[in-house]
Amino acid sequence: MMHGFIPPARYYAYKTWQEIRDLPDKANVPLILPIGSIEQHGPHLPVAVDSALTLGVIGEALARLPNDNPALCLPPLYYGKSVEHDGFPGTITLTANTLTTLLMEIGEQAYVSGFRKLVLVNGHGGQPEILRIAARDLHVKYRDYHCWHLFIWDVPNKINDLLSPKEAAIGIHAGDAETSLMMKLLPDTVHMDRAEASWPAERRADQLTYFIGRLTKAWTTQDISHNGVVGDPTPATLTKGEQILDQLASGWVRVFEEIHRWPSHEQHAR
Ligand SMILES: [Zn+2]
Repeated sequence: MMHGFIPPARYYAYKTWQEIRDLPDKANVPLILPIGSIEQHGPHLPVAVDSALTLGVIGEALARLPNDNPALCLPPLYYGKSVEHDGFPGTITLTANTLTTLLMEIGEQAYVSGFRKLVLVNGHGGQPEILRIAARDLHVKYRDYHCWHLFIWDVPNKINDLLSPKEAAIGIHAGDAETSLMMKLLPDTVHMDRAEASWPAERRADQLTYFIGRLTKAWTTQDISHNGVVGDPTPATLTKGEQILDQLASGWVRVFEEIHRWPSHEQHAR
């Protein structure tokens, strides 16, 4: 029962040490590490959202993956770096240093066990910088170690077509998309009777810097939201959640197939 959303045959921690030692073509096994967070998600969603949706989407993708793709999923990191939610009880954050060290040590141990393709799959928008640093440092340390640092929402999809333009642009936390997906994955934890929108001040036409986009400044959730939500969860539906899960899972199948086929002895320089 420890595998949760992950198909048990794909769950790394159910293998014996000899099964892991003897995996065929281990250098091409995509070894997936899901990384979520435990952080406030407004009055209507549980603190597990980013961990839950990462595992739910990866689990669905792994269930659809062809059998000749040997991808395995490590036990996830439920905790992440969520310092921006400071001030909302319930958030339990790691520091940047702790998360970096965790990723480096897990990555190093996987390398020592013979894996050469590590896939960091992140579900929380506050920590892609940390994954980027860890993945690059692992690759610098072991030049034949291929390390991807990827965000759960970034695979090819048309999810923005399901959302209002405003939600698609700045609904970044506990809004329509996350709430709909949680209705599909963990419906008992969604409290729509408490769902309530909160929006940041809109960008003026002549304003260059904003809280998201290319020219940004540091922010905390308390700066831009009164209730912990950044967006509008009230239009969320189960149907939308099913479509989001389907689109993301099929995108991740494509990514895991590409990673499986990625040449393990690639040469970039010519
Ligand atoms: Zn979230």
